[in-house]
Amino acid sequence: MDITTNAAGHLTIGGCDALALAQEFDTPAYIYDVAAIRQQIRAFAAVFEQRQVPYEVSYASKAFATVAMYQVAAQEHCHVDVVSGGELYTALKANFPAANISFHGNNKSEAELKAALAAGVGTIIVDNFYELDLLQGLLKATPEKQQNILLRLTPGISAHTHAYDQTGQTDSKFGFDLESGQAEQAAKLALAAPQLNLLGIHAHIGSQIFEVAGFQAAATKLLSVLKAWHQEFGFTPQVLNLGGGFGIRYTDGDDPLPAADFVDAILATLQETALPFAQPAIWIEPGRSIVGPAGYQLYRVGSRKDVPGLRPYVAVDGGMGDNIRPALYQAHYTAVKAATPQAPALETVHLVGKYCESGDILIDEAPLPATQPGDVIAVLATGAYGYSMASNYNRNPRPAVVFAENGQAKLVVRRETDADLVQNDLSYL
Ligand SMILES: *Cc1c(COP(=O)(O)O)cnc(C)c1O
Repeated sequence: MDITTNAAGHLTIGGCDALALAQEFDTPAYIYDVAAIRQQIRAFAAVFEQRQVPYEVSYASKAFATVAMYQVAAQEHCHVDVVSGGELYTALKANFPAANISFHGNNKSEAELKAALAAGVGTIIVDNFYELDLLQGLLKATPEKQQNILLRLTPGISAHTHAYDQTGQTDSKFGFDLESGQAEQAAKLALAAPQLNLLGIHAHIGSQIFEVAGFQAAATKLLSVLKAWHQEFGFTPQVLNLGGGFGIRYTDGDDPLPAADFVDAILATLQETALPFAQPAIWIEPGRSIVGPAGYQLYRVGSRKDVPGLRPYVAVDGGMGDNIRPALYQAHYTAVKAATPQAPALETVHLVGKYCESGDILIDEAPLPATQPGDVIAVLATGAYGYSMASNYNRNPRPAVVFAENGQAKLVVRRETDADLVQNDLSYL
C-alpha cells in the first residue's frame, strides 16, 4: 500500500502528520487527503480529453456525501449523483449546481421527485414504470418545463471483483429489464411523453470491479440497444452512462488497474463500434475510486486480550459504527501504526472495535509492530462507504471528518457529542 511519511518517520496525510492530526482532532477520526480526491477526478477527465470523447464524470456521492465533499466536486467541475432527498439537500446546501446533479434510485418518493424538480436537477435517472408515471404527473404542474432523463437498464451483465457474468444481473431490483422488452417499452413511453426529454440510457454493473471485460461487454450491449432504438424510433442518443464500480486497492493482495486505465480500455472498445449517429457523451459514475484511496481512519489502541495459543485481540476506540464494511461484506483493510508505518510487523492480531458484537472486527489478521494503549493506528483506504454508512450503534457519537491538503487540516464534520445523541429523543413522561 502506498503511504507517505515525514522526517520523523510518521505517517502523513495530505502533508499533515497523522499523530498531530490525532492530537488536534482526537480519535476516532476520518481524514481525507483532498489532493488525492482532486487527482483522481482529473485523471478520469484526462482520459476522455485524450481520446476526444465528450463526457461527464459524475461522482457517486453515496460513497461519501458531506457539504465539503460536494464543494470539492464543484471546484473540480464534475457532476454528482445523488440517491436520496437527503443527499440532494446536502449538495444544495453546498451550493452545488443543480444542473450538474443526476438523481438515482429505485424508489424515489413523490416528495423526493418534487424536491428534485423544484431544485432544477439536471438529470433524473428513471428506474421503473411507476417512476415514469409519477414524474409525468408531477411535471403537469409546470407545463412549460421539460425534464432531462436517462433510463436505467438492467443489461443482463453483472460484474464482481474478479469476474463478470452475462445473466446474473437480470434478477435485480434496479432498472428496466432489457431481455423481456421492458426497456424498449419504457423508451416508447418516454419518447411519447411531451415533458420528458430522453437523453439516453444508463447501466451500473457492480462495484469494486477488477475486470474490464464486464464493462466492455456492457458498453457493447448498450450501444447495440441505442442502435436498435435509433432504427426503430429514430431516437438520437446524447448520453451513454456506464455507471461506476471501478475497483481500488484495500490490501497488497488487491491489484486493480488504475481506475483511469479502466475507462481508457472501455473507450477503446466503444471507439471500435461504428455508429449511425454522432458519438454520444459518455458519462461515468465513480464513487469508491474517487474517495476510497484518499481516506484514512485514525484510532487509538485501548485494551488487549491475549489467550495462550490464540491470536491476540487489540481493541481500538471505534469499530463497526464508523466502518461497517468488514462486518457487512467481509471487507479487508490494511492498518499501520501511525508513528512507525514502515516498521516490520512483530505479530499478527485481530484488530477489533469497541462495539457489542463479536463480528465487530476491523481487520481479522492485521500484521502490526508492538502496540501500547494510546498508540495511533491508521486504517488505509477507508474513504468510501465508511462515514456514509456510519451509525450510532451502542450510542457512540459519530467521529469527526477532517480534510487535509498541502499540510493544512480543516475540520469539515464536527464530532458528534453525547447531546447530539439525544437531540431527537422525546420524553415519554
Ligand atoms: C453505487 C453506485 C455507483 C458508484 O459505485 P462505486 O463502486 O462506488 O464506484 C455508481 N452508479 C450507481 C448507479 C450506483 O448505485
